[in-house]
Amino acid sequence: MNALERTFGGRVLGVASMHHKERALGPQLAAPLALREVRVIEGLDTDRFGAFSGERARELAPREAALAKARAGASASGLDLVIASEGSFFPHPLAPLASCDEEWLVLLDQRSERCFEHRYVTFDVAHAGRMCRSLDELREFCAHLPFPSHQLVVRPQQHGSPPDEIFKGVAELRELEAHFALVHARHGAAWIELDLRAHANPTRMRAIEAAAREFAEELARLCPQCCAPHFAVALRLAGLPCAQCGEPTRSLLALVRRCAECGAEQREERADGRREEDPGACEACNP
Ligand SMILES: [Zn+2]
Ligand SMILES: [Zn+2]
Repeated sequence: MNALERTFGGRVLGVASMHHKERALGPQLAAPLALREVRVIEGLDTDRFGAFSGERARELAPREAALAKARAGASASGLDLVIASEGSFFPHPLAPLASCDEEWLVLLDQRSERCFEHRYVTFDVAHAGRMCRSLDELREFCAHLPFPSHQLVVRPQQHGSPPDEIFKGVAELRELEAHFALVHARHGAAWIELDLRAHANPTRMRAIEAAAREFAEELARLCPQCCAPHFAVALRLAGLPCAQCGEPTRSLLALVRRCAECGAEQREERADGRREEDPGACEACNP
């Protein structure tokens, strides 16, 4: 039995989610962690930590929001092993025209008094919204959306709509047009957007699944010094040298893994074996 099985083996993992994230998290974590069961924690209002549709603004940073959900899940269920996640959508700092999805996963283990976390970022997102002033505009916009495979939200304003005028999880055209007509009659327009909740947005559900797969791999890495699980990436070092001039570039050079238990650190070269960067990505050769 290794340290991963000693820590998690045979335990019940609670999932603090109202949006069926157990469908993405369970299959990725159950076998690698040798869990006995993955169980949704019922009756939990995770939206009180903030909702995408804006009825409640998120006051906590994403990582803290995920941790708060996990803690709430632990106290509601009595389980000592609980996972929660929090997603954010924003323009990528290095590619401002591209939207990205950042998912934080937090695994709270009250038995070992440890909290494991993992951050995952992807450009594969289904996130779009527009103010529509007519039925034609609505139909034209929706023709470009992955709808009805992904659900929609209809509301009067992009920000600050009253909760009783927000229609989430709209999954059919007839339903969409009815909600649009209602909001349009009162406000002269409606904000239409892809629902970002995991169960309404298969692209986001896949991102959570990919995040969980990576998290399981990171948890399975044991510290070379004390054998604790989650010898995880703590730093990403830039500076891959240019193949032409040898100057450091902004590209990834190496990773540094660190153990949160004993502080051991280890440098790890790029997994793809690259030791040089293309001069096209070098600021000295290609300013
Ligand atoms: Zn260690
Ligand atoms: Zn160069």
